[in-house]
Amino acid sequence: MGEAIIKLDQVVKSYGNHQVLKDINMQVNKGDIYGLVGRNGAGKTTIFKMILGLSERDSGNVSIAGSKTDKELFQNRGKIGFLVGTKFYGYMNAKNNLKYFATVKGIPAREMKKEIERVLTIVGLQNVKTPFRGYSLGMQQRLGIANALLGNPEILILDEPTNGLDPQGIADVRKLIRRFRDEFGMTVIVSSHILGELEHTADRFGFVHEGKILREITLDDLKDKEQAIEISVDDLDKARKLLTDGGVRILREVEEKSSLEDFYFNLIGGRVE
Ligand code: ADP
Repeated sequence: MGEAIIKLDQVVKSYGNHQVLKDINMQVNKGDIYGLVGRNGAGKTTIFKMILGLSERDSGNVSIAGSKTDKELFQNRGKIGFLVGTKFYGYMNAKNNLKYFATVKGIPAREMKKEIERVLTIVGLQNVKTPFRGYSLGMQQRLGIANALLGNPEILILDEPTNGLDPQGIADVRKLIRRFRDEFGMTVIVSSHILGELEHTADRFGFVHEGKILREITLDDLKDKEQAIEISVDDLDKARKLLTDGGVRILREVEEKSSLEDFYFNLIGGRVE
């Protein structure tokens, strides 16, 4: 186990009489790219809200960067930059939107211009002068990420940053996430409802299902679990018959392999919707 930078113990949260988080135990270590994986409605955004204090937990404990008291927790939340939804002003351009949020975050006026240039350059929006309302989804997400980077936080939380993006957009976001950790030394927590998606981005995973974290694993655990072999054949029918006659179970024939997805379905006990 590494050094915990975020820790949730027995966190419970209800909205009305719907218990959305049942018993969340989660540990993110310094330097992780931690992938929070689970279907829509599993509770991922609510977990982020508990960490960020955007919504109050009913019970349980949240600790950030070793915080021991509510006061320390409150202070240490300042170390986190986050993308939880993209809410920007349609009539403003990227710079002015970020100026607004940089002000809210308390970034000093004398540093603001440079800081906004810095984060827009990282996400490749430095030359975009048009209002937000005309942005593609990819540009909207990148501005959201730029906003999360303001003030150079130690920890970055990105809730579904690739939602709705095309393959190029997804690849761009993946590359950015790796850069944040490898180049900037950040700890990154990223969620996805597309189960296999974070397999090549994250190095630790938490599987969320019906308000619980069923398991936390490392990328190495995932690889250890992989006992499949991949074979290419000319005559698929013949090969299939030979293998099944010999008692071999064929898991997949053409899809892209995702051991993360397999692991998830094993955990929840099958591919049921
Ligand atoms: P995920 O991010 O994994 O898709 P969420 O954390 O957004 O899941 O939601 C988990 C469950 O909590 C869902 O059933 C959702 O409808 C419910 N929920 C989320 N926010 C609220 C809210 N403010 N009021 C009532 N129910 C909510």
